[in-house]
Amino acid sequence: MNKDTILEVKNVSKRFTSKGVTVKAVTDVSFNVGKGETIGIVGESGCGKTTLGRCIVRAHEASEGEVWYRTESGEELDFLKVDKKKMKEIRKEIQMIFQDPYSSLDPRMTVLDIIKEPLQANYPKMPKAEMDALAKQMAEKVGLNPAYLMRYPHAFSGGQRQRIGIARALVVKPQLIVCDEAVSALDVSIQAQVINLLRDLQKEMNLTYLFISHDLSVVEHISDKVGVMYLGRLVEFAPTEDMFKKPMHPYTEALLSAVPVADPTIKRERIPLMGEIPNPANPPSGCYFHERCRYCTQKCVDEAPELKTMPDGRLCACHRAEELSLGGFDYEVQGTEA
Ligand code: SF4
Repeated sequence: MNKDTILEVKNVSKRFTSKGVTVKAVTDVSFNVGKGETIGIVGESGCGKTTLGRCIVRAHEASEGEVWYRTESGEELDFLKVDKKKMKEIRKEIQMIFQDPYSSLDPRMTVLDIIKEPLQANYPKMPKAEMDALAKQMAEKVGLNPAYLMRYPHAFSGGQRQRIGIARALVVKPQLIVCDEAVSALDVSIQAQVINLLRDLQKEMNLTYLFISHDLSVVEHISDKVGVMYLGRLVEFAPTEDMFKKPMHPYTEALLSAVPVADPTIKRERIPLMGEIPNPANPPSGCYFHERCRYCTQKCVDEAPELKTMPDGRLCACHRAEELSLGGFDYEVQGTEA
């Protein structure tokens, strides 16, 4: 592992089998995450991005592959193979923030107890007063009023509940946070506030984010690099600016053409995605995207493209990536002021 890399995802696949039918939810996904970076993972609903995130934190056991992780103490280990004892030791370093702030908090617990819960699980010998103090500090850091911590989650708004979820994830001082659609359930103005908060906390606590979302505008604001998934496969992986200016994969091109631009003088051709996302239990031959791709040739129907390193260093899985020279979008990073 490169010394600046905190996470190396290598050929991770996940299959689910039910009643004799096997679904490939994630197929052969590989990418690296540098320390302090934010990697966005995007794609339509059902593309496997959440399953991938869950495999990385071992909420699902991957069917194949390796996830190399550099621990806080500098040890490199395959997170998918560590035993229970080691897992208990390093679990606190990798936390998850969930999509739905309404259902991810126990309605019978006070906010203080919710934020304290990971401390109790990871540091059972820590005195109660110290736990309370740490939980209160973290609540303040995420913008919650410590005077309200004895209240229950139902007394808080959606944005405040997501702040509670963030405080709970960060109270054990993790290194890596997997944010699974962390702002999708919030209003747009609250989304901006939570994204700005995540960015500020990243700088302050030297955090690394894996940010999973179906919303490209959100991913654009927060990510250093973006991975695009289609039907369980990674089809493009590139620095955010490069990808938004000039996508290489036809699927990325179609997704980006639908992202609204704040400048009314910029007009983008909207590229409609034909048909529905195919059934992952019965994927198409060759390139999984060929039935919806306007550049499809016979080779695309017959042969699956490999994820290759392109001349500019990005990864792309398309037979015609270089020949097509797609995109050329006017691109400007959108503001995220609350
Ligand atoms: Fe389209 Fe062919 Fe590229 Fe697949 S390989 S994205 S079908 S051009």
